[in-house]
Amino acid sequence: MLGDRVVANRTTLERFAANSDPREVHPEQLNVQATDTINPLRSLPSILAIRDLRRRIRTCPILGSSHEDLVNLLSLDPLTTLRCLRQAQSQVNIQNRPLNTISDLVSCLGRSLVMRALDTPVVSSVGTSAIRELWLHSLATAAAARALAESSGVMDPEAAYLRGLLHDIMYWLHYLGLHDRGEPFELPASQWIEQWRLPKSIVTTNLPQIGGDRDPHELTMENPSALIGAAELLAELADFNHPEDRDSLTRNLLLSAVTKESLVLASDLRIKIRNLLDSCGISSSFEEGEPEQTESYEDLRLYSSRSLGHQTELIGSLLHCSKSTTYRGIVTVATSAALRYLDFDRAFFVRWNQESNQCWVKAKADRSTCPLMPATLKPTEEEAQVLRAVLTEDEPQLMRRKIRTNGLMDLLGADSTLIVALNPEFDMPTFLLLDRSITGRPIKVVEDGLNAAALGGTASILADNLRMRLERIRAQRFALIDPLTRLANRAVGLHALEREMARAKREGSSLSVLMIDLDEFKTINDRHGHLVGDQALRKTASVLKKVVRKSDIVCRYGGEEFLVVLPDTSADYASILATRLFVAVEDAGKDRNLGVTVSIGLATLRADDESTDALVNRADMALYASKSRGRNRFSVDVD
Ligand code: GH3
Ligand code: MG
Ligand code: MG
Repeated sequence: MLGDRVVANRTTLERFAANSDPREVHPEQLNVQATDTINPLRSLPSILAIRDLRRRIRTCPILGSSHEDLVNLLSLDPLTTLRCLRQAQSQVNIQNRPLNTISDLVSCLGRSLVMRALDTPVVSSVGTSAIRELWLHSLATAAAARALAESSGVMDPEAAYLRGLLHDIMYWLHYLGLHDRGEPFELPASQWIEQWRLPKSIVTTNLPQIGGDRDPHELTMENPSALIGAAELLAELADFNHPEDRDSLTRNLLLSAVTKESLVLASDLRIKIRNLLDSCGISSSFEEGEPEQTESYEDLRLYSSRSLGHQTELIGSLLHCSKSTTYRGIVTVATSAALRYLDFDRAFFVRWNQESNQCWVKAKADRSTCPLMPATLKPTEEEAQVLRAVLTEDEPQLMRRKIRTNGLMDLLGADSTLIVALNPEFDMPTFLLLDRSITGRPIKVVEDGLNAAALGGTASILADNLRMRLERIRAQRFALIDPLTRLANRAVGLHALEREMARAKREGSSLSVLMIDLDEFKTINDRHGHLVGDQALRKTASVLKKVVRKSDIVCRYGGEEFLVVLPDTSADYASILATRLFVAVEDAGKDRNLGVTVSIGLATLRADDESTDALVNRADMALYASKSRGRNRFSVDVD
């Protein structure tokens, strides 16, 4: 449905607006109820009105005004769809039509009203990385909902698409509020529904609350809102993440949804969305959040109503991108802010390899008519000294061109440039180079230096914050504990093994693993009941934990199987540990009058082990040998 002829640019939109039938009702006339409270619809943009998104969506000269074209346009744009939906609500009572799909919407409103809804003032791109992310998340949720509806038959696929597209309605309002007014619109969902006169059938079920937990029981396929919930998980599995850090419940749901089938579906979805983006002329680099083109001076003047050179506003604008998910996104916002608030003409991003004394230079924001192409070059010795001073003195430095050399300043064609460190602690430190070479105005060392320091400092904090956020998310994903034994679960264990294996290979150290299985555990369950079985499992887990070293990792690998990862441990030492382990387990069993014993398989890393599977398989085979030789023993590495 979303083919090549999907999108319009502003000119096309204006052409439509100009050609629209004057007899058709103007949207404002449909606003039958005036309301005193802030109506976000007034400032609600179309996705196509967000500058860097629109810039990426290629002109489509042959876009017709057919019903299908408009449906396709709205399918890309949750914001306009929302606007249209509200508009249509005023008419639907009169026309008595259903409003379950985008096609229903377009039929209800007519061409002219849909085009007017699309034609909103251009909105600046600064601080929209979360909006872009949410956009992709919404598109992916909608596409997943359609696919799930098609395969399950629970609901009309197009109705599922519309619901998927609007699933993040509360987040859209939240971000647009933040973006437009500097503060979110915080109204309870029920009030929005009422105020916007949105159809309850579409948005009231499963309305997400920001920061609120979701009910895991919703996520069955028995009702349509559960289908949308499942679609959202699928979208996230396909890596179209929600810009918010999700609550732990959602993350756990996400992890529990990781099955072979769902991963296949997610991979299909990823291809589908990639094709859709391709057909819109949006390259995959878009997903990394960096606008490809730099901003022109006129654009910046037009979109900046704020006064220049004001640090508070500068920092405020940077903090808008505190949710940015890429370093590039942060650099893009920082460089745009350098032009917008600090009145520089150009901002370059530079990465410096001190060892080889090579700089990689890229123009990020540029008021000149011919922006610089990315280049790699050697700075002169004098320039390298200034870069070093920026790092050691921890404050911006002015670099001047003295004589003609083939250094950095010649590449920039600048007489002076202000250099501020972005990430001085990186192995290859990064800098922003700011100049006023286009307009020829001077750089004031103190005033501009202070402002640039604020800019660099804030961007560094954002980058640090991003690194910690990514680390935390990663940690949370894996920090999953088995509730019965309180040991790390299998995923954590395997992840640790992967990490230790890489380390052992890198450092040439030894690594052993033990695969441990309780003997005749079924009999214990049968004789004493499952509760006693559970206790025996818990006890065994705590014995294992006590006997191994702090640096060893014990995880519950399966029902009554445990995997122990022993870093820096040779086969000999691991054998000693294995003996200690099964003696300790047996003793603990005796204490409780339970004949609990374990069999152990031991394997040690070999140079030709390519994956954790190889090592675990050998431990498994060794375990099998212990079992077949009579249990309550350990065996080493059998091929
Ligand atoms: P073997 O010595 O050959 O390993 O004998 P086994 O009886 O342990 O054989 P098997 O591995 O087939 O059986 C494992 C049993 O462990 C079956 C299952 O009921 C029990 N089990 C798995 N997880 C749990 C659990 O969480 N709690 C309890 N109580 N039992 C469990
Ligand atoms: Mg067993
Ligand atoms: Mg078993």
